[in-house]
Amino acid sequence: MRYVDEYREPRLVRELMDELGNLRVPRPLTIMEVCGSHTMALSRFGLRRVLPPDVRLVSGPGCPVCVTPSGYLDQAIALAGRPEVIVASFGDLLRVPGSRQSLEEARAEGADVRVVYSVLDALELARANPERAVVFLAIGFETTAPTAAAAVAQAEDEGIANFYLLTELKVMPPPMRALLEAQDVRVDGFLLPGHVSAIVGWGAFRFLPEEYGAACAVAGFEPVDLLRALAAVMVQLTEGRPSLANTYGRVVTEEGNLAAQALLRKYFRPVSSHWRGIGELPASGLGLLPGLAHRDARTAFSLEPAEGRDNPACRCGEVLRGAITPPECPLFAGRCTPASPQGACMVSSEGTCAAYFRYERLAGGRHPDDRGSSAGSARKAKEVAS
Ligand code: SF4
Repeated sequence: MRYVDEYREPRLVRELMDELGNLRVPRPLTIMEVCGSHTMALSRFGLRRVLPPDVRLVSGPGCPVCVTPSGYLDQAIALAGRPEVIVASFGDLLRVPGSRQSLEEARAEGADVRVVYSVLDALELARANPERAVVFLAIGFETTAPTAAAAVAQAEDEGIANFYLLTELKVMPPPMRALLEAQDVRVDGFLLPGHVSAIVGWGAFRFLPEEYGAACAVAGFEPVDLLRALAAVMVQLTEGRPSLANTYGRVVTEEGNLAAQALLRKYFRPVSSHWRGIGELPASGLGLLPGLAHRDARTAFSLEPAEGRDNPACRCGEVLRGAITPPECPLFAGRCTPASPQGACMVSSEGTCAAYFRYERLAGGRHPDDRGSSAGSARKAKEVAS
C-alpha cells in the first residue's frame, strides 16, 4: 500500500535501528512524545525497546481524553441528567471516571448520552430531535477543533438552534512550555505531533529549540517515520545542537493548514484551560467567540464551574507529565486494566496506560540480542516492520 509499505520497509527499519544503536549519547536523555497516536504506535511497534539503554522515551500530555479534567466530565454528566438534553460524545470519553461517576454510569441511570463518531453525527441528532437540545462534547486538540468549528458554521447556516458545544478543546504548545518551565521532569527532546503539526505548521514549535534548547522532530506514524524522528532528535542531542527537524514532510509544512487555522480563528478564541496532571494554563484552550454564546452549553445552560475530584490512587497526572511510566503505578495491570479502568489513561484508546497494558506488559525488557548483534538487529527490524 502506497505511503504505508515504504514506511515499514524492513531494510530501512534495520538501517535506522543500527544508526540509533551506533549513537553515543553524552548523558542519560529523556525524549517525550506528545501525541496519543504516537504513544500507541511506539508501543505497538516495540520502538521503546530499540533505543540505547540510557535513552528514555516517555509520554506527555498528548492523549485528548486523558488530559480532559474530571470537572468537565462532571459538567457533561450534569447536562446529560436534564430531560431536555441529549449529550453526544465520542465513545472513549464515556468510561472516564468523573468525580462521582462516568458518563456511562450516568447513562445506565437514565441520562441520555449518545455515542457519535463525528461532530456531524451530533448535528444530525440535533436535526432529528428539534424539541431537544443536543450538546456535543467538544474535546481534542488542533486536529479536531476545525471540525467542531465547521459544525458550528453549518448549524449557523442552517439555523439549527438546538445544537451546542461543551468545549474543552486544547492547543498543544502551552503544556510543552509548562513542562519545560516546571522542570519537574527533565525533557531533552520532543517527538512533535504529526497531526497537530499538519494544522498549525512546524513553525509553531520553533520556540522549543530557540527558547528552551530542546531537540525536536516532527514525526509521522509508521515505524520508519518514528525511527527517523528519533534519530533526528538523538543526533541533535549527541552533537549538542538542538533544532527542529521535519521528518514528516509529506504531510507537514512550516505554515500548516491555513484554511483550518482561519476556520479556528473565525469561531474560537484562546481561553484558559485545565489540563489533567498539569493544571490551569492561560491561553491553552479554545472557547467559542462571545458572539456565539448561543452555541456555548456553559452559557446556554448556566453551568457552574466544576472543580472535579480525581481518584487519589490513580497516577495519571504523573504519567501525563512523563514523571512515571505506567508500570510504576501500583494499580497498573492489577486493579487497573482496560476492563476495569481506574483512570483516564487506561480508558482511552490513545492512553499511555492502555498502550503499555496492550503492547508492553508482556513484552518485558530488551531481548539480549536486541543490541550488539546483527542477528538480533535483523530479528528486531523484522518484528518492528511486521
Ligand atoms: S495504571 Fe490506572 S490507576 Fe495507574 S495511572 Fe494508569 S490509569 Fe491511573
